Amino acid sequence: MLINNPKLLEKQRTLLMDVSVAGRRASTTPSMDVPLSDMPPAELLRDDLHFPEVSEPQLIRYFTHLSTLNYGVDSGIYPLGSCTMKYNPKLHEDAVRLPGFANVHPIQPDETAQGALQLMHNLQTYLAEITGTSAVSLAPLAGAHGEFTGLQMFRAYHLEHGQIQRKRVLIPDSAHGTNPATAAMLGFTVTSVATDNDGNVDMDALHKELGTDVVGLMITLPSTLGLFERHIVEICKAVHEAGGLVYGDGANMNALLGQVKPGALGFDVVHLNLHKTFSTPHGGGGPGSGPVCVSETLRDYLPDAVVVKIANNTYKFHRPAKSIGKIAAFNGNFGMLVRAYAYIRILGAEGLKSISENAVINANYVLAKLKGDYLLPYQRLCMHEVIFSAKRQKEHNVRALDVAKRLIDYGFHPPTMYFPLIVEEALMIEPTESEGREGLDAFIDAMLSIAREVEEQPELVRNAPYSAPMTRLDEARAARQPVLRWRADADKQKI
Ligand SMILES: *Cc1c(COP(=O)(O)O)cnc(C)c1O
Repeated sequence: MLINNPKLLEKQRTLLMDVSVAGRRASTTPSMDVPLSDMPPAELLRDDLHFPEVSEPQLIRYFTHLSTLNYGVDSGIYPLGSCTMKYNPKLHEDAVRLPGFANVHPIQPDETAQGALQLMHNLQTYLAEITGTSAVSLAPLAGAHGEFTGLQMFRAYHLEHGQIQRKRVLIPDSAHGTNPATAAMLGFTVTSVATDNDGNVDMDALHKELGTDVVGLMITLPSTLGLFERHIVEICKAVHEAGGLVYGDGANMNALLGQVKPGALGFDVVHLNLHKTFSTPHGGGGPGSGPVCVSETLRDYLPDAVVVKIANNTYKFHRPAKSIGKIAAFNGNFGMLVRAYAYIRILGAEGLKSISENAVINANYVLAKLKGDYLLPYQRLCMHEVIFSAKRQKEHNVRALDVAKRLIDYGFHPPTMYFPLIVEEALMIEPTESEGREGLDAFIDAMLSIAREVEEQPELVRNAPYSAPMTRLDEARAARQPVLRWRADADKQKI
């Protein structure tokens, strides 16, 4: 299924400028309804702006074509590990556009926004139930922001208890980069804890690091290796015995919905990524939502504000007694809260449980079908995502990046690469529950076909993609100095 159509490529690379013909117009201006005025003086006029001159159909075709170049969850499987790129039900968009929700203003008086507050209160209750925790704040605006909020609560808690010497945060070496970044932003030092040969936390290494200078542990469950941490209860106990607190990075909650409650395992805080597990759209740095769910120990430290129910079934914003204060201008990305609420209400408890079941079954299906051709670093069943290593492909001088680029030619979005850092040449595949059998099989076939290509014609894979408007970019420069618009001197800024 090699998509390598030179004509298509040609078309994709055609810039509007290249089809410009002097005098051609895509618009007609309405007749003048104001008095004519003179042109500004000649020295203020420029003649160095070259606008493309095209017809209306050319213009429409150009932009329509551009609109098809983006790949999203509505285009096909989006197996970007750790990101939980699941389908976003369109019904949510109806809910969020209801005038009472769409037009609510963050500083209107509580008594005039009772419906919105009730929704927030109910969502807090559901999230507490789902995570097995005591209280919830919906204020954090992303997962990383939830981490920041959680560790601020840890700091407030230790200061309150006179434990000012606690400055060190323990983090398993498989962790997402935001975990150590968050700890560092709060002025803590980070100690990395090793992973054992089965993909669990190395318990000896953990015990060696625990002491009276430890703020706590940040841990992801299931881990970013896609594995359920077998010692999790023992780990929480050990950290608590050392006077520390346990932060749960709940970005992987899609594996646990309705099956396991982090609060019951001993977590003091767990953040949720509503934009992952609860299916609110994300990507492109769009609005996120990272509510923090806390145990009884920390409920008084939650940020300002949480929504509380008072007499007569009315609701208001409340600042908890020992609150760490405001963490954002207002009280969360409300549109995301409405979508997550709709998701939970539509699915119900049984539906949520089936989400995690299907997410885990799908990942294990991919594991079973690909483990003969891609190296599986930990010989265990996985949770909602499976991590392979392209080490075998590396013997043919093909890297994880090349496999990912080749997938683009097969019409699929690549998986996450080179993360977690402890897996060499990592390919991290998270199919999510949204994919049906046919979608999974098509993706698996492409991966198997690429594995064959690696053995038979590795240079084909090394130079992929052939079907994309851009082929190989300098990834660092593309991220830091993106070229986002057409420029007359574009040739000079080619990446
Ligand atoms: C996505 C993710 C985060 C960060 O969440 P953001 O909403 O992107 O800030 C943290 N940890 C893990 C494991 C994640 O997958």
